[in-house]
Amino acid sequence: MNTATSHELFTRALDLMPGGVNSPVRAFKSVGGEPFFAASAEGAYLVDVDGNRYVDYIGSWGPMIAGHAHPKVLDAVASTMRKGLSFGVPNALEVTMAETVRKLVPSMQMMRMVNSGTEATLSAIRLARGATGRTRIVKFEGCYHGHGDSFLVKAGSGALTFGLPNSPGVPKALADLTLTLPYNDFEAATTLFAEMGDQIAGVIVEPIVGNANCILPREGYLQHLRDLCTQSGAILIFDEVMTGFRVALGGAQARYGVTPDLSTFGKIIGGGMPVGAYGGRADLMQQIAPAGPVYQAGTLSGNPVAMAAGLATLGIIQGPGFYERLESATHVLCDGLEAAAHDAGVPVTTTRSCAMFGLFFTDRQVETFADAVACDTAAFNRFFHAMLRRGVYFAPSAFEAGFLSSAHGEEELAFTLQAAREAFKEVAA
Ligand code: PLP
Repeated sequence: MNTATSHELFTRALDLMPGGVNSPVRAFKSVGGEPFFAASAEGAYLVDVDGNRYVDYIGSWGPMIAGHAHPKVLDAVASTMRKGLSFGVPNALEVTMAETVRKLVPSMQMMRMVNSGTEATLSAIRLARGATGRTRIVKFEGCYHGHGDSFLVKAGSGALTFGLPNSPGVPKALADLTLTLPYNDFEAATTLFAEMGDQIAGVIVEPIVGNANCILPREGYLQHLRDLCTQSGAILIFDEVMTGFRVALGGAQARYGVTPDLSTFGKIIGGGMPVGAYGGRADLMQQIAPAGPVYQAGTLSGNPVAMAAGLATLGIIQGPGFYERLESATHVLCDGLEAAAHDAGVPVTTTRSCAMFGLFFTDRQVETFADAVACDTAAFNRFFHAMLRRGVYFAPSAFEAGFLSSAHGEEELAFTLQAAREAFKEVAA
């Protein structure tokens, strides 16, 4: 595989950007080697600057659930941008976006658009603190909620990949206000709330953990958190930046039937443009400026072009059978990966929730963060490169979930599983 142009670009980039990238996991540091530079993308495929083509199971880390460069999204962006890129006054698309989100996720009674998932989660915990007058936040080991100071405590995603779950630069006084719990441990949550429930402003959780690979909630776990928050007056925040519009049209809250007080969104809601959103109970959202005293603002928030891309994507995913097709494609992929690994004698298990999946190099079921970190990351790294060489791009970290899009059809799945059969043999050798 010729990667000369990518190599040349990466060499230049290393001198200009930390690690040569604008977001850490892109650097391939944990899997080794060098990243490829994208030239274009279409449907299920990424094409690099050297002309290599990859079946893409990252979809820009989640947004591209309708496939790359979907014509409806591109058309919406093109026609909107000709009317101006940003106005600094309200525009109609913001209202349509809020109406659409509330229709799809009824707990989002009111909301605010922002520019990233990080902004959404930062704003949500500020609101939880402002509304309750309390300071402590609870998060879960291995969950990632963006790079806000309060969240870089036992964080997942890139922070975990690079062994930096607690980042330097986060003041201890602030980090001390973040309490961490083991995900899926009922007893630990009960005990913490018994001890300090009256000090907890909010609990923020990825309802399905997608930043420590992919870990599903145990039966009743999200409801348990709901009950603890209700009893103690803490605000329950579902961080659905990853799961929103991915595991079901109504997100994880619809899939599990548990209603949070606040939710955060990103990725799919922007259709590939920089967008996030937070919202929930109207009485809480009415506390956000200028309706209320909790301040939060944004020069480009509700940007018309970004709203257009997001709305076009939200339109596509409402099509008949959209999620059913995604879910069955994910089963074909995950069952196929498990079978290929088994045939090669490599211990592998998968987890899945509609268009999101986890691939673990272990023969045990993975239900906790401890289970996920105990997996064989060296074997994953070998598998990653064996797949990449065959034209299949999985996330360059053992601690990231994989994503399918509606553009992943029979051909792409068959190609992937053929590559996997060969790759697992390489891992076993
Ligand atoms: N929350 C979750 C669950 C995420 O997965 C991410 C990013 O991957 C974020 C928040 C942060 O979003 P962004 O990268 O858009 O700031």
